Amino acid sequence: MQKSRAILIGRMQPVHNGHMQVINKILEEVDELIIGIGSAQISHEKKDPFTAGERIVMISQALADANVDPSRYYIIPMQDINFNAIWVSHVKMLTPPFSIVYTGNSLVKQLFKEEGFEVRQPPLYDRLHLSGTEVRRRIINDENWQELVPNATVDVMSEIEGVERMKNLSIKEISDI
Ligand code: NAD
Repeated sequence: MQKSRAILIGRMQPVHNGHMQVINKILEEVDELIIGIGSAQISHEKKDPFTAGERIVMISQALADANVDPSRYYIIPMQDINFNAIWVSHVKMLTPPFSIVYTGNSLVKQLFKEEGFEVRQPPLYDRLHLSGTEVRRRIINDENWQELVPNATVDVMSEIEGVERMKNLSIKEISDI
């Protein structure tokens, strides 16, 4: 029987527990999941501090720690392109074939629907706290961000001195004003 294959694209700046919960939920519904690391070309910016490679380590190690079978997912970095109207073709060029799109992002939803894909809106898990914006805010303000992310994100942050990087980026942006 043909396998059901879906895609979830996220900037994952950084990978947090909301991403992990949504991935687990999707893997209950489909055979295979393509995890697209979005805006792969951007890093070292206040809203996008981590490189695609750093985000790949966060997600792949977190999935390994959660004992998710590696034959059930693909992790693929995806650069943005300036043309929304052909973005779906760009994504298709980079990925295994898929028929279902999971997203809570209204632009992503719109673009894939227009190209005839089945788009599913996954449930939102504790969106007040489980968002990249909140994790980054807590990191900059020395609050407890570790409770919002998998251990793998904490480990990568330590390996790359991510807290220092983010604080430097926020100082730089203030001094640029
Ligand atoms: P994100 O990391 O904020 O979210 C990724 C996904 O995770 C979302 O669909 C969301 O539903 C889910 N999620 C996040 N927190 C959750 C929670 N607490 N509970 C449940 N689910 C949760 O990333 P994003 O901003 O949606 O990423 C979209 C990517 O697509 C970006 O990189 C964007 O640049 C890219 N994009 C590019 C183009 C283009 O290049 N022209 C066009 C559209 C989108």
